[in-house]
Amino acid sequence: MNSFSQFEENLDQLRADLAEHCRKYGRAVDSVRILPVTKRHPLEAVCFAEKAGLEAVGENVVQEAKWKSAEYKGRVEWELIGHLQSNKARHAVQLFDRIQTVDNHKLLARLNRIAGEEGKCQRILLQVNTAQDSAKHGLSPSEVDGLVESALASENLDLEGFMTIGALSPDPCVAEETFMRLREIRDRLGEVYGKSFPELSMGMSGDVEMAVKAGSTMVRVGTALYGERAL
Ligand SMILES: *Cc1c(COP(=O)(O)O)cnc(C)c1O
Repeated sequence: MNSFSQFEENLDQLRADLAEHCRKYGRAVDSVRILPVTKRHPLEAVCFAEKAGLEAVGENVVQEAKWKSAEYKGRVEWELIGHLQSNKARHAVQLFDRIQTVDNHKLLARLNRIAGEEGKCQRILLQVNTAQDSAKHGLSPSEVDGLVESALASENLDLEGFMTIGALSPDPCVAEETFMRLREIRDRLGEVYGKSFPELSMGMSGDVEMAVKAGSTMVRVGTALYGERAL
């Protein structure tokens, strides 16, 4: 993993890039947040994020976030960005400030029940497989309406928006299209339900610009900040 000074340098560079993309696409410069992805990096990665003033970190495995948050003595928010199995739902509710990867009715119902039992209003995003890639988790675009309906009827869940993983392709237009699709889904459902669904979590180290162009409010960046993953 990179040193803290290298991390800071990378963070400055990423902020400068985001500001440039925002200007280029006519967006407010502070309209895209950075979620540093600490998965498979040592606990120190979480400390780096906090020291640099970032308020949340992204982890993709419940067990890993569990030991890290138990060891970690500071204060950051924890966001789950990896697939969640129903049998890990209680740990996830106990650990994560927000779960970005809700993608089926069974999981949604279980999270709602457990959040109620834990006395918590669980913030969530729905993960949509806009790339329609069979290797990826997430709802297919045609399933989103049904799950939004259920999420809005779940009294212990707060649906804040949507998340997607860009299509892996050397052609940036392909990723852009998957991001645009998510934005269109959000805009359409916002009209249908008269809600804003403010968060669009999209964009990673390799495809930040297209995500900003399509309206991302949160880019999830690991490698470009911390270097290659080791654990
Ligand atoms: C690992 C991961 C990221 C970060 O990827 P980098 O290419 O290292 O920036 C972002 N989102 C998800 C869902 C991930 O699993």
